[in-house]
Amino acid sequence: METTTTAVEFPANVEAQKLARKKAEKIALENNKLHKRLCRLVGQAIGDFNMIEDGDKVMVCLSGGKDSYALLDILMTLRERAPIHFDIVAVNLDQKQPNFPPEILPAYLTELGVAFHIENQDTYSIVKRLIPEGKTTCSLCSRLRRGILYRVADELGANKIALGHHRDDILETFFLNMFFGGKLKGMPAKLQSDDGKHIVIRPMAYVKEEDTQRYAEVKGFPIIPCDLCGSQENLQRKQIKGLMREWDKKFPGRVESIFSALSNVAPSHLMDPKLFGFKDLKADGLANPMGDIAFDEEPCSTPTTFGTIPLQAL
Ligand code: SF4
Repeated sequence: METTTTAVEFPANVEAQKLARKKAEKIALENNKLHKRLCRLVGQAIGDFNMIEDGDKVMVCLSGGKDSYALLDILMTLRERAPIHFDIVAVNLDQKQPNFPPEILPAYLTELGVAFHIENQDTYSIVKRLIPEGKTTCSLCSRLRRGILYRVADELGANKIALGHHRDDILETFFLNMFFGGKLKGMPAKLQSDDGKHIVIRPMAYVKEEDTQRYAEVKGFPIIPCDLCGSQENLQRKQIKGLMREWDKKFPGRVESIFSALSNVAPSHLMDPKLFGFKDLKADGLANPMGDIAFDEEPCSTPTTFGTIPLQAL
């Protein structure tokens, strides 16, 4: 006679399964929130800077790094929801760097079902030939890349070129320019290309790098390492990255505040005569209650106490 056996569930196992299910649900919820946040921030940047208009053809530059994968993914989601029509074409420039895996991006893009173009140009050899060993190769390499991408945009009929730079790239560039270049200059969210023919956009301008990092992990993007060219990492940029990480840990909100400051500039309170007509400034006799209060402290720098002694007692 046949006997049937029933698996007995021990209470400890049931409890462990429950916990695992709860954990999985929590992760799914977090991932969903992350996707929504990315869509919201990218949509907001597109709207704030009028980056994409009806009828545009947007060429998304795809390097194989986490940021450009995230950009393409989010733009494709937004295109589905947008009240306007725009086209997307993904472009990768294969610079013939040693060990670059040429099959990864075509396979990924074919599966995604997006129009794409792979441009094969051996800029690696040009850079190696022209730049002496040990010198930084990035500036020539990016100049060559830029020229090629502009030409490809022309050939594909794309009027917008989208790059995957995010909030942290913009801030790092801002600090690099300030600390090492004596300039108050970041990385624009939207600009005219230097050949005057295209508009370059950075739809991820409001997105934190840690979000693109997590999104890449969640989505399992087939990342292609970015150090194939053998160029040394920019030490100054590395320092700035470290500084921002430390601020974020020690002073929550500081990095956000600096980023907000980039969209809230008062040229009359800086010192660039090209931005504000200091030389022609005259008192016109008209009171302006919203104007500058020349001798007042800025509210954020006004201490209410001096150490533990109230200011009034000093
Ligand atoms: S890191 Fe390498 S690929 Fe990137 S810009 Fe520099 S030289 Fe070019």
